[in-house]
Amino acid sequence: MEAMVTFVSDDGAQEDWTKLMPLFRQAGVPCVVAITSRQVGQAGYMGKEQIAYLQDELGWEVASHAREHVNLTELSEARMEEECRGSQEELRALGFGAQAIVYPYGRNNARVRSIAGRYYDAGIEVGGGGNTGRADRYRLQRVALGSYFDSRLPLATNRIAYYKARVDEAVRARAWLIFMLHPAERSHDGEQQRHLRETIRYVQAIGVPIVTVREGLSRRADLSMRARPRRLPGNGVLLRSIRRLVGLKFVWFYFMRCK
Ligand SMILES: [Zn+2]
Repeated sequence: MEAMVTFVSDDGAQEDWTKLMPLFRQAGVPCVVAITSRQVGQAGYMGKEQIAYLQDELGWEVASHAREHVNLTELSEARMEEECRGSQEELRALGFGAQAIVYPYGRNNARVRSIAGRYYDAGIEVGGGGNTGRADRYRLQRVALGSYFDSRLPLATNRIAYYKARVDEAVRARAWLIFMLHPAERSHDGEQQRHLRETIRYVQAIGVPIVTVREGLSRRADLSMRARPRRLPGNGVLLRSIRRLVGLKFVWFYFMRCK
């Protein structure tokens, strides 16, 4: 499996339009915008027509960033469900069906992932590194670029050298590297914007594809599906234990035959 890179920008702010759109359009690669459905058209956020242009004209992907920007882990199960289902419904009504959800603040737990699994094919977190074949598709990791910098002391994680090193690391591990952007943040200044442009150029120069989450998922059918439980935790644990035992038996059987 070859490495690939994805850029996901959170919150659907106007800066996706003013800062990211010209840059990605010029580079000829797509970005993914995680949209909080209730914020579409609000002051400071992109409107329906802008998002439609990004999706339809530039091939960008729209992901869900919940219905309201809330920490899903703190909600009752009914409210979690409302956020996950409601966001998908509202995005669909606007013409943007979402395949993935970017958890607000990156916050999720087994219950959130289970409910997210009813409406989305993947969930995206904050932090971490490249996603290998062992990665959980409901816990896709991201590397920060431009804001909310990774904490990896003593590394300076806001420099172009760091961003390129993460790309190199993904190439070596044949991993799917997902960068997290927040262009509306103050720290995403002119310098970080130049780093973003240079990172895109670097990825292109070494021949690594820049893809949407949707395309990444279709290329990485090997990503674990284990977080799409039909049952909530409890039943799942028992089922997993049984499966593990059955699996062990087969391994033993095979081992004996080989001898
Ligand atoms: Zn957010």
